[in-house]
Amino acid sequence: MYLRKANKKTILSIIRDHRVSRSDIARMTGLTKPAVSAIVDSLIQMGYVEEVSPTQAPSRGRHPRKLVLKQDSYFAMGVNIYRDNCIAGVSDMTGRLVKSCRVDIDDLLPGSAVKAIYRCFADLQASQGIPPDRILGIGVSVPGPVNTLTGEILNPPNFTRWHNVNVIRLFKRHCDCPVFVENDATAYALDENLFGHGRRFGNYIMLVLADGVGSSSILHGEPLRGRHGLNPEIGHVSIDLHGEACICGNRGCLELYTSIPRIVEKARASGLPVDSWNDIVDRAMAGDAHCRSIVSEEAEYLAFAIENLVNIFAPEAVILSGKIQYKPDLLLASIQEKVDRRFLEKRIFQPEVLMSSLNQDYGTIASTSIVINNFFYGDSEAMAFL
Ligand SMILES: [Zn+2]
Repeated sequence: MYLRKANKKTILSIIRDHRVSRSDIARMTGLTKPAVSAIVDSLIQMGYVEEVSPTQAPSRGRHPRKLVLKQDSYFAMGVNIYRDNCIAGVSDMTGRLVKSCRVDIDDLLPGSAVKAIYRCFADLQASQGIPPDRILGIGVSVPGPVNTLTGEILNPPNFTRWHNVNVIRLFKRHCDCPVFVENDATAYALDENLFGHGRRFGNYIMLVLADGVGSSSILHGEPLRGRHGLNPEIGHVSIDLHGEACICGNRGCLELYTSIPRIVEKARASGLPVDSWNDIVDRAMAGDAHCRSIVSEEAEYLAFAIENLVNIFAPEAVILSGKIQYKPDLLLASIQEKVDRRFLEKRIFQPEVLMSSLNQDYGTIASTSIVINNFFYGDSEAMAFL
């Protein structure tokens, strides 16, 4: 039984990643054609996949029908619980966002907040007519650090109300489906893995520049995790031994020099009338020398951090995401030039530095991607659906 489920899962993942026929799958897996057909028939019957006509007309002979994931068949719920907002939503298993909404949890303790979020899930589910057995799970994206194995949010700065709260346990009070929790940067990285640049790279690092600096390392398609399922916190790697004291207890953390609020605060202190990173970029692109120097300094710090990461992990790419995604050409060119100049192994390979291809502004997609990624590529819990 387990082997059959495992084969089902493998075939489902192949169908997600490639446009294939039954014969293609037999060739790719080494399974017999009758075995593949039996599994594909079962996946069609369960509503996961459908067969479609080949898009190109056959020039000669028969062209077999291709298999694709069926839209609107199975769904993932997701919620971003962040410092300044909370957005819940539902995507289908192809990643298409079906609907999302903001949830007001500002004055609520975690137990009541999760209850409000779950009520929102129930409303979304009812309004879209989604049967409960078609929900693959709930993905929860929170500021790190978080113990992804147990679901306990540890001690993220400026997020004290949620410290030491086991968010998986709270959701499990309301539902039986699988619940997964990731830090926000890893959620973005998994989103990128499924739908963005991550499809091109097996090894890359995601840096999320927003109110802080989040990070995630994807190695061989999987998030790198340490003890307690912890992700790397590159924002709290020091780049100045004698630097300013950070809230984490360290000195000179990267976050203190590159997070968006810090950049804006510094720009305003120097007399610039700006309220956001967007304002700085707009003025820089209009030729303001002071703003160009701020963008260049941001590039300098990020290039410094990226060089450290490249020397440790040797990734194929570093992907930047978050509020820094606004009109990124000036910043990216400056970072890439600096990285190319200094990287030790440049004769062998040069890592690409690029912006996320996904819009994270209204990002429930990122948290539903935790579920979708787990369903296709994770281990145990997805099996229950096959
Ligand atoms: Zn720190």
